[in-house]
Amino acid sequence: MRHILPALTAAAVLASALVATAASAQPSPTEHALLHALAAEVSPDQQHATIAKLVSFGTRHTLSDTKSDTRGIGAARRWVASQFAAMSRDCGGCLTVETPSEVFTGRRVPNPTEVMDVLAIQKGTTDPGRVIVISGHMDSRVTDVQNFTSDAPGANDDASGTAAVIEAARILSKHKFPATLVFAVLSGEEQGLYGGHVLADYATKQGWRVEADLNNDIVGNSEGINGVRETTRVRVFSEGTKSVETAAEADRRRYNGGEVDSPSRQIARYMDGLAGTYLGNFKVTMVYRTDRFGRGGDQTEMIKAGFPAVRVTEANENYNRQHQDLRTGNGIKYGDVIEGVDFAYLANVTRVNVITMASMAMAPAPPTHVDISGAVSADTTVKWRPAADAQRYRLWWRSTTDPQWRFSRAAPPTGQAVLKDVNIDDWYFGVSAVSPDGWESPVVFPGAPGSWAHEDAPPAPAAPGTPGSKP
Ligand SMILES: [Zn+2]
Repeated sequence: MRHILPALTAAAVLASALVATAASAQPSPTEHALLHALAAEVSPDQQHATIAKLVSFGTRHTLSDTKSDTRGIGAARRWVASQFAAMSRDCGGCLTVETPSEVFTGRRVPNPTEVMDVLAIQKGTTDPGRVIVISGHMDSRVTDVQNFTSDAPGANDDASGTAAVIEAARILSKHKFPATLVFAVLSGEEQGLYGGHVLADYATKQGWRVEADLNNDIVGNSEGINGVRETTRVRVFSEGTKSVETAAEADRRRYNGGEVDSPSRQIARYMDGLAGTYLGNFKVTMVYRTDRFGRGGDQTEMIKAGFPAVRVTEANENYNRQHQDLRTGNGIKYGDVIEGVDFAYLANVTRVNVITMASMAMAPAPPTHVDISGAVSADTTVKWRPAADAQRYRLWWRSTTDPQWRFSRAAPPTGQAVLKDVNIDDWYFGVSAVSPDGWESPVVFPGAPGSWAHEDAPPAPAAPGTPGSKP
């Protein structure tokens, strides 16, 4: 990319001038040369080679042959594992390749079938229990979801997501990060999100503190079925309220707010902010839904297990190229062939993922035990639990109808700060953690709606069920 140092310096000067004033979007205000460099490394040619190889296996249907080395899901997963192993040799063994699997029978899996994921794990240098995941699924299908013999190239659904995962591993494995990175190539998605389930089970068994799963599914096509080309933005879908919210938590949240502030949503905002800062003419469009209407993806298995996760999908899909037998009819070419992938577009989507993973892994963990108070007062007090890896914190707030964090102010490491003359009733609040060298975590919304993990419940800001108790 063409970013030059003088621009960085100017940005740094501007950034310091912004301290304690308004900012437009998280993250800010420190701009990191590393993220520009990582974005510049993403190679459309590498991703083309990856997708061409995956397509060459004919079909990667979950029920297809596992013995052949040239055709079927078995050949595909062994090739993915070999790619990760080769990268690991290039980085002094920095990647561990794991292949967790489970046997499933289901509506789309008539006979017991082993569903196997291929993971590359890049252990964090100082806090390996913190885990940032990128995922995509390698399995493919045609019109009949049970047809495991016909050619199913799946170039975009989801060799494109798989290519994003593999390219992220190639680039990020050349660097060291405090937190662990996991590059996850899943299987069994088309048969019922089984690979996402295997990943969630594996993460739970390992005791990983998964801070994000960026699930990339259908990320390489830029020309929609309506003929419109959308090359400058990608959609990031995220749930608004946590799938694992309890009834009591929902009661409190309905009263005090938090419907649009789950950890998954904060990750979408974080990605939006990073794309705005580091990528040129490429933006994130946040969609306030877990997935596309009535459709699914592996991220839902992660959020059901309590792990924040988002779905990344191209801006404008072409349904003639999804889940279709290869054929021509009425002058339309059907099928998910490699000619339908826009590699410049896929590279930009991959850049959003790479800089998000790097930024989160360099930053401290998202703050815990975030709480706010200040009813019937002119000021708002924000509290959180100080952590060893954060040098300082940043308070963020926005109007309750704003999609993105808007105002921010530096906060001390003490775990408490007062926003003078910022009325608690009118704003949504959050806290991010900042490392000594300026890496910033996603913003955490107070209480159960925003907490990354289940915490001992903070004192309720207002007693649920007794709305009349405050004047
Ligand atoms: Zn898919």
